[in-house]
Amino acid sequence: MALRHLRLRRALIDTARRMNELGINQGTSGNLSVRLVVRGGASGGLLITPSGVPYEAMVPADIIEMAFDGTWRCAGPGRRPSSEWRFHLDIMRARPEFGAVIHTHARHATALACLRREIPAFHYMVAVAGGSTIRCAPYATFGTAALSRHVLRALAGRRACLLANHGLIACGRDLAAALALAVEVETLAAQYCTALAIGKPKILSEAEMARVIKKFEAGYGRRAKA
Ligand code: 13P
Ligand code: ZN
Repeated sequence: MALRHLRLRRALIDTARRMNELGINQGTSGNLSVRLVVRGGASGGLLITPSGVPYEAMVPADIIEMAFDGTWRCAGPGRRPSSEWRFHLDIMRARPEFGAVIHTHARHATALACLRREIPAFHYMVAVAGGSTIRCAPYATFGTAALSRHVLRALAGRRACLLANHGLIACGRDLAAALALAVEVETLAAQYCTALAIGKPKILSEAEMARVIKKFEAGYGRRAKA
């Protein structure tokens, strides 16, 4: 039988490989999901990477199709959904604006997360994640409902967060947007670590960050209308 959602399965695998090539993840760490949109625009669950499979070896049949009640199916033999399926599912359920969720163990973001430090407004680009800080979700064991609860709270009003002693999560309307944001969060984390190594970064005010967020919402980076 032909595989359903072949194009999206391939896009998920390409994005997973890309995140390792870009240096924001390594090995079988990290995982990704993409929302399935059924006819009429309704949400039909998600596709998610399998647990513990190297991205180079991953094939479309290995990708797991999961419904919003957590039931799943996979054409590939012996595959199970990512151990983090719970926060992927809970984010997709709670945040209909997101079409993709990416989790990585990026070096600098993870270093800050191990100190349980959020990324404050040390640079105006922190606003790309939707607010004046990028929060760090409290620690909970990977794959647990407790971790998912912490993540949903850390993502309130945001598109990205750090995970204490673990890594980062970035969300977007599609896989390209979520990947671009994951790269941006890791870049900001590296810049913040560097600034902290030299001295005490000056933090922008809430009023300034509110101005930046407004400019982003007004369409920074979008094409001018013809
Ligand atoms: P999976 O291989 O199960 O997706 O786990 C990787 C990971 O990063 C767990 O947090
Ligand atoms: Zn992880």
